Amino acid sequence: MENVIIIGTGPSGYTAAIYAARADLSPVILTGDQPGGQLTTTTDVENFPGFPDGVMGPELMAKMQAQAEKFGTRVENAVIVTKIEQNEDKTFQVHSINQFTQEEKVWQSKTVIIASGASARYLGIEGEMDLVKSGAGLTACATCDGAFYRDVPVCVIGGGDSACEEATFLTKFASKVYLIHRRDELRASKIMAQRALDHEKVEVVWNSGLEDYVLDDNKRIRAVKLKNTVDGSESELAVEGVFMAIGHIPNTGFVNGLADLDDSGYILQVPGKTATKTAGLFAAGDVADTVYRQGITAAGQGCMAALEAEHYLAAL
Ligand code: NAP
Repeated sequence: MENVIIIGTGPSGYTAAIYAARADLSPVILTGDQPGGQLTTTTDVENFPGFPDGVMGPELMAKMQAQAEKFGTRVENAVIVTKIEQNEDKTFQVHSINQFTQEEKVWQSKTVIIASGASARYLGIEGEMDLVKSGAGLTACATCDGAFYRDVPVCVIGGGDSACEEATFLTKFASKVYLIHRRDELRASKIMAQRALDHEKVEVVWNSGLEDYVLDDNKRIRAVKLKNTVDGSESELAVEGVFMAIGHIPNTGFVNGLADLDDSGYILQVPGKTATKTAGLFAAGDVADTVYRQGITAAGQGCMAALEAEHYLAAL
């Protein structure tokens, strides 16, 4: 019987682990199939406090892991959680499968912190994730990467609030921002849409889908191939950065009714806390965050979750 099982190894999971370990709770952290989480898919991180010269995403996550292990966290690699259940005595069963060996296992724990994050949605074009990982000009986070695209044209894919917000934000850096949307009407709220549409640097490319990325000799994006969704005509648009804003998918498939989810699948927390509707079950970071989605806010929630778990265990 463990004290704390943490599901997920992004900034929220590792911060929860550091706090739980320093509280002598010997936490176990299950890495899932993307150890280090979303930050391992970015290159330079310039907005995480404490790194005035920036830090590479994978390096930041490796440091968090080392800090968690230093205080006694057990890291279980390649363990993917398939289901959580509650026992009659209010403890939890965490069912998992090993990504490589397919070995199934059931863990027992008095508390569980869900820090399984959300995955940015991409289009599914072949080689897309390689472009993200190599910093070749494709990303899903304008806040993180916008500043790398000074005085060059970029595009944003999507027509929701995120797309409009990112397009407006990118006007600070880029020479031109194309907002590429598959329909002739934005999904975004009026105010967010208007802010983007009113900006002189933003141009909407209506009824258009991204078909492929065009690379230069250094394997960096130099243009995108577009297809008109009405007449099927194809065109090429010169851009050096592509910002994907077609939504996120929270990783909550295993929650099994123990926490309430919103319409998009994000975990609903007790307001102002990381507690869920089930005592002893906490959620931290992007898996419960539809607004901020930053490494530092996820880390903050991980800290909250560990402190709440510690109080819960003390009261048992
Ligand atoms: P969203 O509202 O789901 O919008 C996704 C957009 O991407 C839609 O315009 C959709 O097109 C498009 N899309 C989806 N799949 C696509 C595909 N395969 N190919 C091309 N386009 C595709 O997602 P979001 O903008 O990330 O917003 C998520 C939630 O967060 C919303 O509730 C939003 O209001 C909220 N949010 C709020 C703020 C804020 O208030 N500051 C900021 C950002 C987000 P269609 O329109 O054709 O479906």
